Amino acid sequence: MILVIEDERDVRRLIQRSLEALGHEVIDAENGKTGLEALVRQKPDVVILDLGLPDRDGMAVLAAIREWSEVPVIVLSARDGESDKVAALEAGADDYLTKPFSAAELSVRIKVALRHAARAVSTGEPVITVEGLSVDLAARRVTLEGQEIHLTPIEYKLLTALMRHRGKVLTHGQIMKEVWGRHSNDGNQGLRIHMQHVREKLGDDPLSPRFIFTEPGIGYRFRMG
Ligand code: CA
Repeated sequence: MILVIEDERDVRRLIQRSLEALGHEVIDAENGKTGLEALVRQKPDVVILDLGLPDRDGMAVLAAIREWSEVPVIVLSARDGESDKVAALEAGADDYLTKPFSAAELSVRIKVALRHAARAVSTGEPVITVEGLSVDLAARRVTLEGQEIHLTPIEYKLLTALMRHRGKVLTHGQIMKEVWGRHSNDGNQGLRIHMQHVREKLGDDPLSPRFIFTEPGIGYRFRMG
C-alpha cells in the first residue's frame, strides 16, 4: 500500500491512476496532519510526500515520520533548488522526484523503494552482482565479467557504498560520511577524483553510464540492477 501526501488534487489523481495501473493500493492525504494520521493507522509500504503542503512544511512532516518510522519516503519537489533535495535526502528521504514527472519515472522510483524496504529486513548480502560486476564483500574482491578489478581501499569503499544502496541517489555528503566517516572540508573535489578512478577502472563512461549515474548538484546513483 502506498500513501500519497499531496495537496494538489491533479497530482494526487495522476499518482493514484499510475500506481493503481501497476497493481498498487493507494491511499491519499491532502495535508501533513492527515498524512501522519494515515501513516500511523494504515502502515503503508511507501510514502510519497510533497514538500509544499498547506498546513506544515514537508520537511517537518519528513522529520516527524523519521522519528519513529523507517518507511521509504519519496519526496516531491516543485522547486528547482538542488539544496532542497539534498536537505530532504540527508533528513532521511529515500528519493525525490521533481514536478512535473512522468508515470514511468514514478513507477521506477516506487520499485526501487519497495526493493529497499524488502532488503532492509533481509540479512546482509555476502556478494552483490549487478550486470556482470560482482563484489564479494567477505573476500573484498571485485570482478567485472569474471576479470578481477584492483581498487584502492577508498575506491572499494566508494563502490560498495553505491552498490549497497543501488537504485537510490546518495548525496555527496552521505557518500563522504560513509567512505571517510565525516564531511570533507575541501568540498566534493576529492570525491569527484576518486569517482573518476572507479569509473575508469570499470570502463564506465559518465556520459553514457552502465553503472554509476551522476545526479547533477546532488550526488550519485548506482544502477538498480
Ligand atoms: Ca503542494
